[in-house]
Amino acid sequence: MQKILISACLVGEKTNYKGQGNYCPQVEKLREKYDLVLFCPEMEGGLKCPRNPSEIKGNMVIMNDGTDVTRNFELGANKALALCKYLGITKAVLKENSPSCGTHRIHNGYFMDRLIVGMGITARLLKSKGIEVYSEEEIDKLL
Ligand code: SF4
Repeated sequence: MQKILISACLVGEKTNYKGQGNYCPQVEKLREKYDLVLFCPEMEGGLKCPRNPSEIKGNMVIMNDGTDVTRNFELGANKALALCKYLGITKAVLKENSPSCGTHRIHNGYFMDRLIVGMGITARLLKSKGIEVYSEEEIDKLL
């Protein structure tokens, strides 16, 4: 069965900044066709759970208390890419709106609960290296 990388929180793992999951029922259909490889770039980048929310601002990623977590996000993204290369993964399903995993939208960098067009750090890196990235809203395209 073909392997596919998936944001761990979409499968219900409690990895998001609130210490909760973002379970998406569509993953059950995905399971029938793919071997799901769960991954959370923020946890793999060394951040705690729960943690303060982060947003991308220019070339940096900052927490809402001003902490610069750019290196954590980059580490998580690089680990995701390394895992894809190691396992021969060419597709990823990533959680929309996240500063790591967002594939079409991210928050605007001012903690105003406003979304803008953009990609999270991991989504951007994977796409730049030729991996197909889909949000959970696009799972139907993979079935
Ligand atoms: S970094 Fe990605 S996988 Fe981890 S909690 Fe955030 S959206 Fe989910």
